[in-house]
Amino acid sequence: MSKKWILLNPGPVTLTESVRAALTRDDWCHRETEFASLTQSINERIAGVYEESSANYASVLLTGSGTLAVESMLTTFAPRDSKTLVVTNGVYGERMEAMLRAKGRPVVTVNSAWEAPMDLESVEAVLRADQEVSHVLAVHHETTTARLNDLDGLGKLCRDYDRALLLDAVSSFGAERISFDDWNLAALAATANKCIHGVPGLSFVLARRDLYAEPDPTCGSVYLDANRYFRTQHGDGYSPFTLSVQVAFALDTALDELAAGGGWKARGARYAAVGKRVRDELARLGIEPFIPADDFSAVMASYRLPEGIAYEQMHDDLKARGFIVYAGQGHFSSSMFRIAHMGAIADADVDRLLAALREFFADN
Ligand SMILES: *Cc1c(COP(=O)(O)O)cnc(C)c1O
Repeated sequence: MSKKWILLNPGPVTLTESVRAALTRDDWCHRETEFASLTQSINERIAGVYEESSANYASVLLTGSGTLAVESMLTTFAPRDSKTLVVTNGVYGERMEAMLRAKGRPVVTVNSAWEAPMDLESVEAVLRADQEVSHVLAVHHETTTARLNDLDGLGKLCRDYDRALLLDAVSSFGAERISFDDWNLAALAATANKCIHGVPGLSFVLARRDLYAEPDPTCGSVYLDANRYFRTQHGDGYSPFTLSVQVAFALDTALDELAAGGGWKARGARYAAVGKRVRDELARLGIEPFIPADDFSAVMASYRLPEGIAYEQMHDDLKARGFIVYAGQGHFSSSMFRIAHMGAIADADVDRLLAALREFFADN
């Protein structure tokens, strides 16, 4: 089957035929043993995507998009009687700050401009001065600019100053290195439909096993308390609320394909290879990266829209040629476009994409 569009947005991704076909596998009741087993098998494989997390970390599966998993992580693990330091340099960091404020959790911030790296000097100053800060919250791959944040730097500070790291790994889990131990990582949140190549609808929190506790009736949410899910999913396998059964079939297949393809390292290497071809072609066409190319994740890149070209014009032209590119967010909406490298994108698709970009920029 030929696809109508290749998705170059940062999730949901272009699916393999087998992941799409898994959606129609069967009709299962979520409260039957076969689905309990599937839930447990998926959780085991999520923890096993990274060798380092397989023993001491456990995931809970949630029905909802990546934002829901982030909010569940914060509901469950961001403290109420000490402060969380939120380090932001884009939309997703700022969204987490908004979540903490919405919940009335104590927050301090080190905010940077969206085009800037995280401000680790200020982070260190806060950690040194404020003993009430017990947790640090950051975004691994800040999708706003496609910057892979310096988690080695931030994680070392968390280790050195003994603060627990909470991480939005929604657009990195499955393709970028995550150093659980060196970063003093307490928990992360991620989703089925970005680097794992499943369909949207399921997401997960992966936390250190010993941090899960009894469900907390005063945490501010029932649905988002990851402890409720941990107790049941890692007990009899059932979930407190209905999981998206068919989305779980697709995730099951996607996790198989991730492992069969060589795991996160191979996937990251594939993204990097696709990204390099796109970046080189755009450089030949005079299109510049929005931030230094060395700062990009493997997962995606952001580019400066040339003078005189409206984003909508580029988007519509490429859509007609079979490719969905992505706009910049907020105040970047008229100056940036983004191209993600996730999903089932074959070399021939990249060939066609490069030709489409050549034709568009030659005509405009
Ligand atoms: C995509 C994304 C999210 C969550 O997005 P959803 O639309 O809720 O799935 C969160 N953080 C980052 C960094 C992302 O790229």
